[in-house]
Amino acid sequence: MTNSKGRFGVHGGQYIPETLMNAVIELENAYNFYKEDPEFNRELTTLFNEYAGRPSRLYYASKMTKDLGGAKIYLKREDLNHTGSHKINNVLGQALLAKKMGKTRLIAETGAGQHGVATATAAALLGMECVVFMGEEDTRRQALNVYRMRLLGADVISVKTGTATLKDAVSEAMREWTSRIDDTHYCLGSVMGPHPFPTIVRDFQAVISREIRQQMMEKEGRLPDVVMACVGGGSNAMGTFYHFIEEENVKLIGCEAAGRGIDTFETAATISTGRLGIFHGMKSYFCQDDYGQIAPVYSISAGLDYPGIGPEHAWLHDTGRAEYVPVTDEEAVKAFEYLSRTEGIIPAIESAHAVAHAMKIAAAYEKDKIIVITISGRGDKDCAAIARYRGEDIHE
Ligand SMILES: *Cc1c(COP(=O)(O)O)cnc(C)c1O
Repeated sequence: MTNSKGRFGVHGGQYIPETLMNAVIELENAYNFYKEDPEFNRELTTLFNEYAGRPSRLYYASKMTKDLGGAKIYLKREDLNHTGSHKINNVLGQALLAKKMGKTRLIAETGAGQHGVATATAAALLGMECVVFMGEEDTRRQALNVYRMRLLGADVISVKTGTATLKDAVSEAMREWTSRIDDTHYCLGSVMGPHPFPTIVRDFQAVISREIRQQMMEKEGRLPDVVMACVGGGSNAMGTFYHFIEEENVKLIGCEAAGRGIDTFETAATISTGRLGIFHGMKSYFCQDDYGQIAPVYSISAGLDYPGIGPEHAWLHDTGRAEYVPVTDEEAVKAFEYLSRTEGIIPAIESAHAVAHAMKIAAAYEKDKIIVITISGRGDKDCAAIARYRGEDIHE
């Protein structure tokens, strides 16, 4: 069933079975109430500040700036948040909302495990039950995160259907939600899925651009010329863009995972290679085969390894407001090593995709221009994979 709610141009909507309608309507009504509720917002701000460690720093990367020889580079340090990425912003928001709605149980999907760990963390903090769906293939690749989630008190369910990866975990979580909406909230991990999720997740992640604006005014007395971020489903990028969308002089750039290249089948660059379609409750762009089936996708970065993109990004692309560029594994790995060496900051391999594109464009800007790159997470989790990419086995 579908209707006109939650549209971004032709994208978005609610393409879901009738049995889920009540759940999304209940969620939308609750969200519309609590987002204006001063007590809810006070509690969320306290969790952000006291628990997650916000505001995250806006760091002037002077060595990188000097080395690249162009625009001034600032890094928005979401890697410094509790649990190591931007995911906690969305999860604390949704968990608090679910609690206010009287739900006692959180379910979530996870790919690499970052969103699962963040959800298990919030569930532990707020005293809620937690079940995380994860593709069997991913549970093998990310055994440490599976252990973390269990340590935090969550049940991890290994999904064996399809390619046994992230897209199958999302499908399974949606099925589970359909069968148990009374006590359960589906804590979706990115700006995707049926309305109202793309809007809810964006609003909770918008704290990123709200802080960038304020910190930029304090440090430079003006807004940046470019803000950029990596794009999987697109939540850290939407959070980075949101408070700049109306500022025409601020360029918005999203960096997609090209994997081994957009001219190969081993890619996850949805805007570059995808087509309009309907999947996971939304209309948007998806990587598809000749028959319109969702294509298997590939990236060195598990967090960007999703065959779709959030509907608001699809719309920002259609209108030309934001630019989306592909970045290969090789470029991302080089940027991962470069930022580690140059600034002493090991970024998540996802975030390194944005760093890589900044390295390409910075020199073309005058020295008085400013580029902000969101570092969506920290890279400790990626060290073994990068070592392997470089032909070294560190026995993790
Ligand atoms: C999950 C993840 C991403 C990708 O998700 P978005 O919704 O596109 O932000 C990017 N970086 C890190 C560190 C992640 O954990």
